[in-house]
Amino acid sequence: MRIGIDLGGTKIEGIALDDSGRELARRRVPTPRGDYGGTVDAVAALVATIESLTGQQGTVGVGMPGVLSRVSGLVKNANSTCLIGRPLQDDLETALARPVRLANDANCFALSEAVDGAGRGERVVFGVILGTGVGGGIVVDGQVLEGRNGIAGEWGHNPLPLPGGDDLPLRPCYCGRAGCIETYLCGPALERDGGAADEAALARYEARLARALAGVINVLDPDVIVLGGGVSKVDRLYSNVPQLWGAHVFSDRVATRLAKHAHGDSSGVRGAAWLWGGPPAIP
Ligand SMILES: [Zn+2]
Repeated sequence: MRIGIDLGGTKIEGIALDDSGRELARRRVPTPRGDYGGTVDAVAALVATIESLTGQQGTVGVGMPGVLSRVSGLVKNANSTCLIGRPLQDDLETALARPVRLANDANCFALSEAVDGAGRGERVVFGVILGTGVGGGIVVDGQVLEGRNGIAGEWGHNPLPLPGGDDLPLRPCYCGRAGCIETYLCGPALERDGGAADEAALARYEARLARALAGVINVLDPDVIVLGGGVSKVDRLYSNVPQLWGAHVFSDRVATRLAKHAHGDSSGVRGAAWLWGGPPAIP
């Protein structure tokens, strides 16, 4: 049994999957906000509840906002600030008395979609979250690519390519830079520009997304790009953006697919479970 935990800013969700990906149990509890020790205890209690419900012991994978520094082993880049600088992996392993695998929530999204979602059967999957923020994760042959700095796939704070017209002046970003992709492509940016019901705002959004994803295609050349997060509900993106990105990709034709997520809000928690390996034989 694989247990996945999605450690969010307001809730902690847990799921148990059997070897074929069937859901055996699911529970959620509120996050003890600003309370690091309470958060570790809440994860341990949630795992205990799930194991009691299923009558089995499982492996535990945890998706979290932020990443573990490969230098210090401590959490960095987390928006749940009580986690920053904490040895979350060590503390969870102590509380749960077993090894625990942790990954960035965008990486969990990408893994979930690669294993048994919209990227199933593909070798190279780029998962994108277009939500409150913009994140990304890379899965190759069913494995998360973490990268030397733990930031592989984090394209949201790259500059928007070819800014001009309505993109200017460059928008300031909380990270300290200006013109970051996130400031144009996050859900709140689309809302400020007019929202998903505004034709002109959507056209601007699609042009920006196409330029930003073309940069990813030129570097990674994925088989499929899977979109998640609130903006991924806009269906016209999947037909319009691939018509626009070709102008910016260094190839005569672009075979990369743009796909909507298959698991929706469950992708984070399912991907966390698959950190210990996906189904043994994908039919
Ligand atoms: Zn930024």
